[in-house]
Amino acid sequence: MLDADFFRRWMTATAMSVDREAERLTALDSPIGDADHGSNLQRGFTAVAAALEKEAPATPGAVLILAGRQLISTVGGASGPLYGTLLRRTGKALGDDGEVSEGQLAEALRAGVDAVMALGGAAPGDKTMIDALVPAVDALDAGFGAARAAAEEGALATTPLQARKGRASYLGERSIGHQDPGATSSALLIAGLCEAEEAAGE
Ligand code: ADP
Ligand code: MG
Repeated sequence: MLDADFFRRWMTATAMSVDREAERLTALDSPIGDADHGSNLQRGFTAVAAALEKEAPATPGAVLILAGRQLISTVGGASGPLYGTLLRRTGKALGDDGEVSEGQLAEALRAGVDAVMALGGAAPGDKTMIDALVPAVDALDAGFGAARAAAEEGALATTPLQARKGRASYLGERSIGHQDPGATSSALLIAGLCEAEEAAGE
């Protein structure tokens, strides 16, 4: 079972990897965007980590709802409301349980990803974060490692795609040949599940 501590570790592990990879995320957002994805998420997840330390929510759902709220209020770009919605909706779907199963998390994340698609209007293949998140959720029943591999593969597979949503879509065919920054950061978020699991009992 996964408790609030696991979810806090997930968010702090993601904050650390976003911090580590911020320059790369911004570099990916340079040819097909406005070169701010790394700094956007760095600001957002720094706020998430600080809020979680200050408030220490008692349930998995409350951890994700607080994290999502921080992202929405601190990230200026398109990715803030989208990631914020992902975490808030996932948190709401987890309800008030003090511990949740991996199956419950998989189901809740599915609801979160559906909410991102509803908000942003992107479908798989549009060269967005959805291209990492949907395969990850599909693989989650096979474990966090399988979800991470699927997300990383999904992010890499955005390179040959033409963007149909977000800033990159303004480039039309010129968006082809570049890996999507949001799909890349989504793979970091999913990898954070493995890191939270590995850190259990430390
Ligand atoms: P902005 O585009 O406002 O500068 P960011 O650079 O932080 O925001 O984030 C860009 C990323 O957001 C893209 O790489 C893409 O993955 C994701 N994105 C943009 N628009 C959408 C959308 N409508 N649906 C899903 N993801 C989107
Ligand atoms: Mg940008």
